[in-house]
Amino acid sequence: MPGPTPADNHARQSGSLHSTISPAMEDYLKAIYRLQQGDDRVTTLALAAELGLSSPSVTNMVKRLAELSLVEHSRYYGVRLTDAGTKIALEVIRHHRLLELYLADAMGYDWDKVHEEAERLEHHVSREFESRMDELLGHPQYDPHGDPIPTRQGKMPRASWQPLSDQRPGTKVVLRRVSDRDSDHLRFLSEIGLAPGTDLEVVTCEPDDGDCRIRTETGAHTIPGELASCMQVERIRKS
Ligand SMILES: [Zn+2]
Repeated sequence: MPGPTPADNHARQSGSLHSTISPAMEDYLKAIYRLQQGDDRVTTLALAAELGLSSPSVTNMVKRLAELSLVEHSRYYGVRLTDAGTKIALEVIRHHRLLELYLADAMGYDWDKVHEEAERLEHHVSREFESRMDELLGHPQYDPHGDPIPTRQGKMPRASWQPLSDQRPGTKVVLRRVSDRDSDHLRFLSEIGLAPGTDLEVVTCEPDDGDCRIRTETGAHTIPGELASCMQVERIRKS
């Protein structure tokens, strides 16, 4: 029998969720989950780019995850999460999103600051802590960026929202979701008074660069195309 690996030791010291699964492994599972949403076939190259790591180290980790039956890996299909891998990915995502909301609502963090903090803390949340956050927040469905919070049973709620950049002139929409990745974008949105739940009207979205002119309660604003394409909106139905 080989002795404990550095990952096992790290997991033990950090009090990670699953004794043999390190925070780094959890980050891999999360990244594969995210990439699988966009493309069925997740290559180690795409995974390396997503994690900002070299291909050889990603290949090594994928091998270890496959040994633990958390992923399947074939040359043709690339990397895919098994049911066990998906379960852990969703659990970590649930922690991340509950933590973001807890930091924002209970601790007064600005929404452009919560992601970094949640990235660190998500690996160290016990079942009890998770339950208490969930309870205190009133069993929320969305985090401060509008990302759905997976249920405790590991179901990811689905929403059929559309990118702001795809909207026609004159469309009235509610902003539902923004990406939590870019703090500058989040600060910009706060400055112009936009958050999930805000109503806005599309004046025009340029087909070439995707820049959108919008009107809100606070006035007229231009949203750069790069940001508009990762803002998801829901059309307001006329009653
Ligand atoms: Zn986040």
